[in-house]
Amino acid sequence: MTAIAPPPVAVRVSEPDLGPDVEALVLEVLRSGQLAQGPMVARFEELCATMAGTRHAVAVSNGTASLEVALEAMGVGPGDEVITSPLTFAATLNAILRAGATARFADVTSDCTVDPRSVASLVGPRTAAIMPVHLYGLPADMHALSALAHRHQLAMVEDAAQSHGAEIKGQPVGSFGVGSFSFYATKNVTAGEGGVVTTDSGTIADRVRLLRNQGMRQRYHYEEIGRNLRMTDLQAAVAIPQLERLASISARRQANAAALSERLRGSEIVIPTVPPGRVCVWHQYTVLLPAWSDRELVVDAMAAAGVHVGVYYPAVVWDHDVYRRHPHVVPDPAPVAQEIARRCLSLPVHPRLSEADVDRVAEALRAAVRA
Ligand SMILES: *Cc1c(COP(=O)(O)O)cnc(C)c1O
Repeated sequence: MTAIAPPPVAVRVSEPDLGPDVEALVLEVLRSGQLAQGPMVARFEELCATMAGTRHAVAVSNGTASLEVALEAMGVGPGDEVITSPLTFAATLNAILRAGATARFADVTSDCTVDPRSVASLVGPRTAAIMPVHLYGLPADMHALSALAHRHQLAMVEDAAQSHGAEIKGQPVGSFGVGSFSFYATKNVTAGEGGVVTTDSGTIADRVRLLRNQGMRQRYHYEEIGRNLRMTDLQAAVAIPQLERLASISARRQANAAALSERLRGSEIVIPTVPPGRVCVWHQYTVLLPAWSDRELVVDAMAAAGVHVGVYYPAVVWDHDVYRRHPHVVPDPAPVAQEIARRCLSLPVHPRLSEADVDRVAEALRAAVRA
């Protein structure tokens, strides 16, 4: 009898890096009987402050909520303009609109983060804040952006949803302005759902703490009209062990990215580069396909070869019906971002990939592009 080899398991584009340490801590919370925000959230916040190198970290229910509450805590609202990246997830734009502000879009450079010169060209009398996105795990050019914010007295909110532990010249993201991180299931560190606001400002941290808990500091004493944006101890317990081993999670992503680059170099596929001084934590490994190739066919061919890929993002963020005619969305031209949106493809780079998986990903892509 000849044994028929089972078809190889598909390589997924993202996979959480959980382990027995997560299981043990979640069980500890379940057995404690304290499920809502409590000591685990406090531990989670300490680890987040360490990750971002800030004095404070305030946990909230998800990354979108952390962007919203950061803007609210900084007093950004109706009549204000916020300059962000057109190459981002809808949450970035939704948070600006939820605040009642108007969204403007600076173009990006070839590294997929906002071009400080493009941001500068959009600064006007109504500009209140800059909201760069550290896309795919790569920090935006924060030194140039911080100088710009300082010169024009603008608030800075960093959308660091994809970049836990990324750095520029040794300084972690989330510490240049008010930082906002997501702990959604697919992010580099996950809680299932979760978010955190990081800041050196005691005033802003205090305001976020009030806003996330119905405006209460003392029970039934309301200082503001707040919301319920609390995280649970169960979610914090999922994230804590990953935060404790974040360095090794990032190192494995970095090794996978280096291996992919080695295998793809010299082809017609444009591989991602990291500008000097920046440390990328590779939330995504995003290539640009040759201009002539049909992305849908490449995605299908790779899926047939058992490699799942992602398109982050198929269009610039304002280029959807709900936003195109929105009175608070200015569709600023962004030719570089639009070209990237047309050609980008994100490959699996997550820490659970084996060396054989990396080979398979690179081979499948080369074959799909040649076809
Ligand atoms: C995931 C993500 C968010 C939103 O985070 P959630 O936790 O899903 O609400 C915001 N911005 C970017 C760039 C993201 O990738």
